[in-house]
Amino acid sequence: AKHGGRNRYSYFTPDLQLAAQARQQVALDLRLALAERQFELHYQPIVNLRGGAIVRAEALLRWRHPQRGLLCPVDFLPFAESSGLIVEIGDWVFRQAADQVRLWQDGLDPAFQVSVNLSPAQLRGDAALCRGWFEHVAALGLPARSIVIEIAEGVLLDQAGPVVERLRALRAMGLQVALDDFGTGYSSLAHLKRFDIDLLKIDRSFVQDLVSDSGDLALCEAVIVMAHKLGLQVVAEGVETAAQCALLMAAGCDFAQGYVFAKPMPAAALAALARQGPAA
Ligand code: C2E
Ligand code: CA
Ligand code: CA
Ligand code: CA
Repeated sequence: AKHGGRNRYSYFTPDLQLAAQARQQVALDLRLALAERQFELHYQPIVNLRGGAIVRAEALLRWRHPQRGLLCPVDFLPFAESSGLIVEIGDWVFRQAADQVRLWQDGLDPAFQVSVNLSPAQLRGDAALCRGWFEHVAALGLPARSIVIEIAEGVLLDQAGPVVERLRALRAMGLQVALDDFGTGYSSLAHLKRFDIDLLKIDRSFVQDLVSDSGDLALCEAVIVMAHKLGLQVVAEGVETAAQCALLMAAGCDFAQGYVFAKPMPAAALAALARQGPAA
């Protein structure tokens, strides 16, 4: 048993050490990335299902890593969150997206909106952060409703207190709030009613099998009816086929986002696409 214990130990320890070292290294790299401006935002169009106009784009974080190339959030977001750096990175994201939508409103459509994802830690922190955003938006002369904050539905449940308060404050400033990944958490109708939300994003996992799974279709239809009764608009996420799109349209879904229209792309490409006119 002693021997086995030692074996297990010697097998386990270096691994843990490595993992801890790797985490530390990524945290250092992320800090450097901020300083050296290695982050970029790519934008994915959100399409109005009535008419096909691109009315909004979701800002999605990318890291142009000097050695590893263009990285997606799955590769680094967990480290950004566990190290707390997401607060600073997220602050950059917000300001960058605001600057960008200001340009689009001049060049494309004065009502164009940008969607920004927030991690819970960003809402748990200092209230000054939100004030800073408000000042930034005001300095740009941007109507506050140009920015949509996307939060995962879990955020509303786990964090009573500061998070919900911050959200209220942001909404009081005039920003819109979207509930992201709807259906994957534990939201109830009561939550939707209680927290002033503008948009509901149906998670990709319900859209995926829309054509083959009548249960998923029934769910989407019910969510859309319910959302509309509560005065919310609905975005379907991860729409990949025309057949899915047709079902969503028939169900009265307001907006769709997904590879059937476009993958996330650099800002200039998004502007060119939006200028081409209706996507659907
Ligand atoms: P999300 O907010 O649910 O964003 C949608 C994700 O689905 C994006 O992945 C997008 O590229 C992908 N997607 C869009 N359409 C389709 C489709 O038709 N099929 C499939 N299979 N996927 C599609 P991405 O860009 O890798 O982002 C992953 C997640 O990382 C996001 O999920 C969001 O939770 C988080 N994230 C991205 N940017 C930020 C950010 O600036 N701040 C924070 N806190 N989180 C971010
Ligand atoms: Ca999102
Ligand atoms: Ca989502
Ligand atoms: Ca999702």
